Amino acid sequence: MATPPAPGGFLVDFDLTDDEMAFDEEVRGFVDDFIRPNLAQWHNERAIPREYWQELGKRGWLLVHKDGDDWVERPMMELAIMYDRISELSPGAGIAVFANNQLGVYAPYTWGSEHIRDRWIEPASRGDKVISFCNTEPSAGSDVKAIQTQAKLDGDEWVITGRKMYITNAVEADALVVSAVTDPLADDPRQGQTLFIIDPDTPGMKVRGLKKIVWEPASLAFIQLDNVRVPEEQVIGDLHGGFDHTMGTFTNGRIGVAAMTMGTATGALRLAHQRAKRRKIYGTTLWEIRTKRHEFGDMAIIAEAGRLLYRKAAWLRDNGRDFKMAASMAKLYATEKAKELTMWAAYLHGGSGVLEENRIHRYPLDAWASAMGEGAPEVQRLLIARFFDEWIEQF
Ligand SMILES: Cc1cc2nc3c(=O)[nH]c(=O)nc-3n(C[C@H](O)[C@H](O)[C@H](O)COP(=O)(O)OP(=O)(O)OC[C@H]3O[C@@H](n4cnc5c(N)ncnc54)[C@H](O)[C@@H]3O)c2cc1C
Repeated sequence: MATPPAPGGFLVDFDLTDDEMAFDEEVRGFVDDFIRPNLAQWHNERAIPREYWQELGKRGWLLVHKDGDDWVERPMMELAIMYDRISELSPGAGIAVFANNQLGVYAPYTWGSEHIRDRWIEPASRGDKVISFCNTEPSAGSDVKAIQTQAKLDGDEWVITGRKMYITNAVEADALVVSAVTDPLADDPRQGQTLFIIDPDTPGMKVRGLKKIVWEPASLAFIQLDNVRVPEEQVIGDLHGGFDHTMGTFTNGRIGVAAMTMGTATGALRLAHQRAKRRKIYGTTLWEIRTKRHEFGDMAIIAEAGRLLYRKAAWLRDNGRDFKMAASMAKLYATEKAKELTMWAAYLHGGSGVLEENRIHRYPLDAWASAMGEGAPEVQRLLIARFFDEWIEQF
């Protein structure tokens, strides 16, 4: 029976729709039937195979798909549910699909020409091309306007030289979205950047894998561009408008990072719950100890609040409403609280938590990694404060 609205208030429906619930079931099935049985092998090989992308593509889960001549973008709520569910079992598999969809595919799909959509996005939507987004450089991360990679026009080709660092999926990527300075004399460096889409086998491109300790088995790479020549048709969106496109990509991406991070937190919480019920201590179980119960209560609130925040941001976006503040809140809360929750969950495992075979040890590292991309915590706080004057008036 539906709950009646509070007197003088209005009814807020917190349920997922029937379609979203059916989608969630489908994702759970995919995680159990496809990712779970293969995950150990992916970790051993430290690589995610092409079948992963193709299975996602078959289901239409790679951000967009074509229906006849029309492009269909999957609603943010469904994408967020998917990042959440996949990351619960494997934050590495979660970041791989998140980074491909919300960074690599999002920018060329949203601002790219028909040519770009036909040549790169259509195969990407089937899982036949993986696309990485390459903004960070050895000397510029949070400060996006400080990138050094240069692109100079020579005839009708751009010649690009620079270095990109910490690029997810780039080892196996079939296309790279690269930000570069195209107007070094612009008064405001934010008006002087452009995005390009580049095939990694273009002469002058070198991609080198980096060994890392987070988000296994997804790959991470360093990229060198030495006089890489690309035709003008490989410019994504507005010439000198690249900074805004990058920021638009990151703003939208925050909802997905928040969802992925709440999945990471839930994965750790589930393992802690199972461990607490099993672990005998002082003639009882960890679960029966009152202070431990208090801690589980606190962690349940984090898991619930984080999920509500990202779902609100996704709902705002799917309904054409301004979601910027909500996305920053969701991302900041999820990443800050997931660090606390996952570390607590690992600690609850006692000594067994440090064994390599125990996957609990991955979760705190993966939660830590989530905080960095799409704007560091300090940046999120500043963004939230930017909306504060208007936001406070609604109460
Ligand atoms: C595993 C992983 C995957 C990644 N994948 C990608 C990818 O696919 N594509 C891509 O382009 N990049 C990627 N990155 C890079 C990521 O986006 C950057 O690491 C991030 O932007 C931070 O930049 P930085 O590492 O240069 O750190 P810095 O920007 O140097 O930050 C250093 C410290 O300063 C703090 N800080 C930042 N801004 C402020 C501020 N305004 N006030 C106070 N303190 C501040 C930060 O919180 C941090 O603690 C990835 C990084 C990692 C670790």
